[in-house]
Amino acid sequence: MPDVPLPLTELAFDNRLAALGGGYAAQVRPAPLSRPRLLHANADVAALLDLDPAAFATATFTEVFAGNALLPGMAPIATLYAGHQFGTYVPQLGDGRAILLGQVRNARGESWDLQLKGAGQTPFSRFADGRAVLRSSVREYLAGEALHHLGIPTTRALSLVAGDDPVRRETIERAAVICRVAPSHIRFGHFEVFYYRDQHQRLAPLADHVIDEHFPHLRGAADRHARWLGEVIERTARLMAQWQSVGFCHGVMNTDNMSILGLTLDYGPYGFIDAFDAHHICNHSDDGGRYAYDRQPGIGLWNCSRLLQATLPLLHEDENEAVKIAEHLLERYGPAYSERVTALWRAKIGLREAREGDAELINRFLTLLHRGRADFTRSFRLLAQVASADGGDARALRDRLLAVEALDAWLPDYRARLRAEGSDDDAARAARMNAVNPKYVLRNHLAQRAIEDAERGSAGQIERLLTILRRPYDEQPEHEAYADEPPPEARHIEVSCSS
Ligand code: AMP
Ligand code: MG
Repeated sequence: MPDVPLPLTELAFDNRLAALGGGYAAQVRPAPLSRPRLLHANADVAALLDLDPAAFATATFTEVFAGNALLPGMAPIATLYAGHQFGTYVPQLGDGRAILLGQVRNARGESWDLQLKGAGQTPFSRFADGRAVLRSSVREYLAGEALHHLGIPTTRALSLVAGDDPVRRETIERAAVICRVAPSHIRFGHFEVFYYRDQHQRLAPLADHVIDEHFPHLRGAADRHARWLGEVIERTARLMAQWQSVGFCHGVMNTDNMSILGLTLDYGPYGFIDAFDAHHICNHSDDGGRYAYDRQPGIGLWNCSRLLQATLPLLHEDENEAVKIAEHLLERYGPAYSERVTALWRAKIGLREAREGDAELINRFLTLLHRGRADFTRSFRLLAQVASADGGDARALRDRLLAVEALDAWLPDYRARLRAEGSDDDAARAARMNAVNPKYVLRNHLAQRAIEDAERGSAGQIERLLTILRRPYDEQPEHEAYADEPPPEARHIEVSCSS
């Protein structure tokens, strides 16, 4: 931090992506929001920018982050991208409702993109209105924080501003604007567009921009593009592993929603699984289940193959050679995924060492959760309470599970495995497990409550949820109800793409 946090007007903006030139983006001004009200702003995110949260109380803050005013140095742009949507290439997408205001560098030297989402039409809006509804804005605002505090790479958000503008979706809703904050919002699709348009000369400057800004150790190296892509592939694989480990489903893993930095990006119909179904589909519009929970790791790989296809011209001038290099790079996905996911699952069931047979032990536990549709999040917390001694107390978990026979068959093997590595100090194991198995996640019904509250003009539930989700692993007795499974009437909340 600088000696004192800065007022808003002293943030130094530039826009190095805009400096790449007109081939990559269009200059655009945010459209004003009518009667903007700041519903919430996030002091943790302000701290990333060295911004004094006292700014939240100023009229300028609301004006700027509603899209009604610009600050000196901001160079707002909408960027061009394409993408594979549900497996089909769509040639022109681009920021249809997101406007990159610029970047701010903090005293630690980190650069942060500030991007308004829902700030009106851009040249890439096609026939859509450029707006985002309050409902989806609240969901995105909360989700970034929820994942961040679970240790999962993600975009975050500085502010949530509600407006009066009517927005037509299935019904008429109200517009809102969030300010997303991330090191970069560049997507796989930013590269795909130039490959399929045969504008291959545009690939290298964009890749080098990403490398200069975010992979500085690769700057100037002759093989930097291949090494950079290898890192993107591994980051993506590890992100998929992290999503799996907390029961997170993205819902729309199109390549235009895949971050070049391996961040979770574009929160739409996402969800944390309540009752565990390995084939869970969180997006009501995903009829075929392309983006079902258990398909996410495979889709991550496929998306990486699309990125490699688009960047072949960077890998070698001879296409056959380029394909060979790309195939080699793609082979890094599997091991990166497996290594991370097994480490995460192992830790989740309280194991410290890697032993043969662990994958099977873990799979049997997941299978019994799946068969009995046990609550994903709670089950791991309850497993922490199981005694490691043969015939020891396992009631807390046993009482909650339907697949009791499978559990009874599994427990002796689990206990033997714990003892084999000396993990039979139950208190120590429980502490270890509770530090990696969240007690609180952003369940759909909780987000829904915050939305209904926000639609009445109150940010009380947003504030409450953020407080809880900031410490997802801690027991918070005063907030016990927020760890509950959804009540029966909220079990089938359907989340569509409409946003
Ligand atoms: P999404 O499904 O939200 O990832 O968006 C896919 C594409 O549609 C992106 O190019 C978005 O910018 C664009 N888009 C989505 N909603 C809107 C909207 N209301 N107005 C303009 N463009 C939109
Ligand atoms: Mg998107």
